[in-house]
Amino acid sequence: MAESSILSNTSNLEKYLKLPQKGKVIAEYVWVDGSNGLRSKCKTLNKKVTDIKELPEWNFDGSSTGQAPGNNSDVYLRPVAMYPDPFRVGDDNILVMCETWGADGKPNAYNFRHDAAVVMEAHGAHELWFGLEQEYTILDFNGWPYGWPKNGFPAPQGPYYCGVGTGKVFCRDIVESHYKACMFAGINISGTNAEVMPAQWEYQVGPCTGIDLGDELWMSRFILHRVAEEYGAKITFAPKPIPGDWNGAGLHTNVSSKEMREEGGMKHIEAAMEKLASRQAEHMAVYGSDNQLRMTGKHETSSYDKFTWGVANRGSSVRIPRACAAEGKGYFEDRRPASNGDPYQITGIIVETLYGMVDG
Ligand code: ADP
Ligand code: MN
Ligand code: MN
Ligand code: MN
Ligand code: MN
Repeated sequence: MAESSILSNTSNLEKYLKLPQKGKVIAEYVWVDGSNGLRSKCKTLNKKVTDIKELPEWNFDGSSTGQAPGNNSDVYLRPVAMYPDPFRVGDDNILVMCETWGADGKPNAYNFRHDAAVVMEAHGAHELWFGLEQEYTILDFNGWPYGWPKNGFPAPQGPYYCGVGTGKVFCRDIVESHYKACMFAGINISGTNAEVMPAQWEYQVGPCTGIDLGDELWMSRFILHRVAEEYGAKITFAPKPIPGDWNGAGLHTNVSSKEMREEGGMKHIEAAMEKLASRQAEHMAVYGSDNQLRMTGKHETSSYDKFTWGVANRGSSVRIPRACAAEGKGYFEDRRPASNGDPYQITGIIVETLYGMVDG
């Protein structure tokens, strides 16, 4: 482990984590801030929470998170989903995903969940499922990919993807810790793999129904940052962390509706392709920042400007998995989103493009 990176002492912490809480419960409120990051603070509750509605609304200083001006800084936190806390195991402690709201009763400018939830609710009859493939890169304390030679580069890409063995994979301990912590929290984490660039990894969340995907994915990111703290590592979701001949990081978004999953679903998938083709620019605008750096047409990416789709084609905007084409039903994979994309915005605009906007 890098020198000077771990400033805390986790074996001492163990002793205190085991102390009984005398009936009290700790709720860690988590929210998305004004720069696509996460923030959290915790609160003591007097008893176990069995329904999200029992959790009190709370507030924070939005001028300190880029979410409100200093002269009107209160931003309100409205709990929307809760998960068992893998960091404070026992005593019914929870992680709580929250929406952010203004004193004027309107969603905060960075509350992208609200609009997404409205459009998904309106089109609930289509029973949308989403499965996202979250790629990310682990950095050391100084911000260089973990395990890479100081001031240098590892051998070219090739042996690292789904690799095994020293020198081929880095920080499997962080990946394993995150996997188990997500599972404990009840996040629908469906797998993980080492990526093409060394120190880059992927995990998948889903399939989840509608807005749940955004809640679970954001919470899985919180858990990842939080786990990495304990190893003195940093997590970056930058879509092109290292320029040059090193793969970027994406957030492949797998999508299906009830109709697409049923017999003859392929015609609904094809209809979806036409709709997506007509709104390329609108989608790219909310598919993450710095995505131009990643979407060069190389390294298994497509063109930033032009929509394309194809069966089993990893160089197109959307890929229809070969098994789905063979069965004539299933789902499609939108390969355009960058790893730092907001899952609320991504899944929200997909539903909007496929089924129409909703006033509200
Ligand atoms: P890839 O071959 O692109 O690496 P992965 O196995 O990493 O694919 O991820 C596939 C994702 O697709 C998983 O997150 C899974 O939950 C999701 N998925 C599978 N079936 C469906 C479906 N019918 N609708 C939406 N998502 C699905
Ligand atoms: Mn204070
Ligand atoms: Mn994958
Ligand atoms: Mn991948
Ligand atoms: Mn994929």
